[in-house]
Amino acid sequence: MFRIGAHVSISDGFPAAVDHEVDLGGNCGQIFVGSPRGWAVSEVDETEAEAFQETTEERDVRPWIVHGTYLVNLATPKDDLAEKSVDCVQSELDATAALGVPYYVFHPGAHTGAGESTGIRNVGERLSEVDVPDDVTLLLENTAGKGTTVGKRLEDLDEMVEVSSHGYGDLGICLDTCHLFAAGYDFRDDAGMADLADDIEATVGYENVHYLHLNDSKHPLGSEKDEHQHVGEGEIGEDGFRLFVNHDGLRENPMVLETPVDEKGYEWNIETVKRLRTGD
Ligand SMILES: [Zn+2]
Ligand SMILES: [Zn+2]
Repeated sequence: MFRIGAHVSISDGFPAAVDHEVDLGGNCGQIFVGSPRGWAVSEVDETEAEAFQETTEERDVRPWIVHGTYLVNLATPKDDLAEKSVDCVQSELDATAALGVPYYVFHPGAHTGAGESTGIRNVGERLSEVDVPDDVTLLLENTAGKGTTVGKRLEDLDEMVEVSSHGYGDLGICLDTCHLFAAGYDFRDDAGMADLADDIEATVGYENVHYLHLNDSKHPLGSEKDEHQHVGEGEIGEDGFRLFVNHDGLRENPMVLETPVDEKGYEWNIETVKRLRTGD
């Protein structure tokens, strides 16, 4: 079954997030478990977690994914920031487990001058300090490569997993189309999509990709800028999305949108992706 949804707010509580998703036409979804630009992680009380899981079952909206706060930086050379980041990832993972959500995704971070290879090793080593709950898979998201951000190449994500004491299983990958494109992966035609597919297979492997973020890009190929656009209306365009969402190695993954919320909104983007899908 094709699973497509959008990032939704938890400001009305976790169970209401499920209803918000259904209102948008989604059947899977993404949430934060705290402020995306703060360190505080919401307490998940048992009653609310149960209500969230019941609503999820009843309305058949799944699988959910929790997105980590943007402040987390496991690549940093600064020990205090690293410690804070590890603690935050742990709290968010625990909240994810308490909600019965199977996936948690975060951005690896930025090396801020320490060098890319040091940043990549830092991420792997600090991931080893995290206790991944049994029923949660911790996903590393590929980045656009802005500034000193690490994780723009698939082999870099693979190296972070290699360095860490966890293997694939506890860890996995979430691919963001805007970030891939901004990092220089061009999948707008058959040949480009085939190259990307070969790259995935040679590095992280399809079997370790568990979730997709569908966002078009406001900026050109290889720009390393992370600004999302409505699906089909950015530099990737409809052809690129048609190839990506229908690709044999990727099409079984749940997909969520993080597109701008303006006059178009998520409903429009969900409809657009459904229109581009074939063979369901
Ligand atoms: Zn993200
Ligand atoms: Zn982004």
